[in-house]
Amino acid sequence: MSEIDLVLSVGKRYGITEALDIYTSKIDVKDYVLAKCRFGCSMYGTNWCCPPSTHTPDETRQLLKEYSKAVLLIGESKGTSMHDEFRKGMLEIERNLVNKGFYKALALPMGPCRICENCTYLEGKPCRYPDQKRPSVEGMGIDILATVKRFKKNIDVVDRDKEKRFGLILLD
Ligand code: SF4
Repeated sequence: MSEIDLVLSVGKRYGITEALDIYTSKIDVKDYVLAKCRFGCSMYGTNWCCPPSTHTPDETRQLLKEYSKAVLLIGESKGTSMHDEFRKGMLEIERNLVNKGFYKALALPMGPCRICENCTYLEGKPCRYPDQKRPSVEGMGIDILATVKRFKKNIDVVDRDKEKRFGLILLD
C-alpha cells in the first residue's frame, strides 16, 4: 500500500477526501501569515498549538530543509465537529505513517488544538496531552491556502459554505 493509499484509507473516517504527494519546496512559508495570527486572531497567545509557542516562519524554513516530501490533505465539511475530527484523523494518519517507516512524519493541522475546553497555555502549565499536541500549520507561518491553490488551481479555499479543511504532514 502506498503512503497515499494509507492516508486515504485512514483519513476517510475523518472527512479527509484527498491526499496529494508534494515536495516541501512547494510549501509557501510567509511572514504575513504570522502577522495575521498576531493581529486579528483571537487564538494568538492562548493555545500551545498557536503562536508564539509555535515555530517562527524562519524556524519553519529551517525545519522544511530537513524534509523533501510532504502529504497535502483536503477534506470536506462533515458538520460542526469537522475541525476536531480532521485534527484527530491527521494524528492517526501520522501514527500509521510512523509505523510504516516514515519515522519523521509530523502532522500540521489547521487551527488551534481544542482537545481541552481550556488550554493550559494561559495558566502557564504544560499541555495535558503532549502526545496529541501538534502545531497549527498557519501558526508555523505556512501559507496553507496558497500551497493548496498551487496544486488545485480552481479550488475556492475560502468557501465557507463547504467548510473545506486542509492540512500538511511532513513526511520524509
Ligand atoms: S491538549 Fe489541551 S492543553 Fe494541550 S494544546 Fe490541546 S487544548 Fe492545550
